[in-house]
Amino acid sequence: MKAAVLHGAGDLRYETVPDPAPGPDEVIVRVEACSICGSDLHGFHGKHPRLTFPRILGHEFAGEVVALGAGVTGIALGQRVCCDIDIYCGRCGPCREGRTNICEKLRTLGFDRDGAYAEYVAVPAINLYPLPENVSYDQASAVQVLGISYHAVAHRVSPRPGEYVAVIGAGPVGLGAALVATSLGAHVTIFELLDYRLAMARKLGVGAALDPSHIDVRKEALALTGGRGFDKVVECVGGFQEKTVQMAVALVKRGGKITIVGTFPENKATIPIAYIKDREIDINFSRGNFQAFAPCLDLIAKGAVDPDLYISHRLPLTRAVDALHLLEARNVEAHKIVLHPQDPA
Ligand SMILES: [Zn+2]
Ligand SMILES: [Zn+2]
Repeated sequence: MKAAVLHGAGDLRYETVPDPAPGPDEVIVRVEACSICGSDLHGFHGKHPRLTFPRILGHEFAGEVVALGAGVTGIALGQRVCCDIDIYCGRCGPCREGRTNICEKLRTLGFDRDGAYAEYVAVPAINLYPLPENVSYDQASAVQVLGISYHAVAHRVSPRPGEYVAVIGAGPVGLGAALVATSLGAHVTIFELLDYRLAMARKLGVGAALDPSHIDVRKEALALTGGRGFDKVVECVGGFQEKTVQMAVALVKRGGKITIVGTFPENKATIPIAYIKDREIDINFSRGNFQAFAPCLDLIAKGAVDPDLYISHRLPLTRAVDALHLLEARNVEAHKIVLHPQDPA
């Protein structure tokens, strides 16, 4: 088959590799759409902590089941599916408590084992979710990342209808968080520095979309919420900074709740601990997409979320390197970029 294989930092080659064979309890999926993730960029630059070479990247994908390994049940040939990235052990303490997204031996498709920048990929059958008839492969390739937003919003801060929710960051995770919070009946304000992302948030109709760089965010928070502050805040930025964590604290109300979704490679952030204690502000954290495939597919099937509106580019797999550069440039209107491994160059 053809695949885009990462041989080392910055060295991605479109080439012929052996077809994958399904192990026990695995299936082969013919990849019809694979979205590019920000973490693929880290991988491309050799900066993903668990990545080894050579490796086929790609973990946000959908396709058709074309072969079944020994012992597979519950999934049929020809089924249209999307796929969970997390491969958990099922035996450790967190797994036994049902919290498989924080498994002690967690492995991830496209980093610890080969992913879907390829015509075919082998995956555990248990990771697959059948697609509703009216959900396209492109839309389904957005479910992995939408599920990160869903877990953060629905499970970690759980807004009630009518509550005020602030989302920091309008990349794919932040946009998804705003859409999910809106679908749950919350009043959403999204904060973002980049104009083209603010424009996308406005296009999706997720409530107010503001650039925090020239405003007093605390004053703005009070003005937007009847003088109280946001009930719930979802931080979706991360990176080599910590301002967005402090901003989350400034936005939230007394007794409110914050969840941190962003990844902070420096592994630290300074928080005003006395301020937080005196107001009993809850801060928790959200890791990955957990128990979110079914509800996210449902949101897309019923039209509450339409990833087609924020898929900005659709490219053949031969152009994977161009696609990664597009995403990285951040001066073009690149939101979600989808690769099509079955398309000719
Ligand atoms: Zn991803
Ligand atoms: Zn486990």
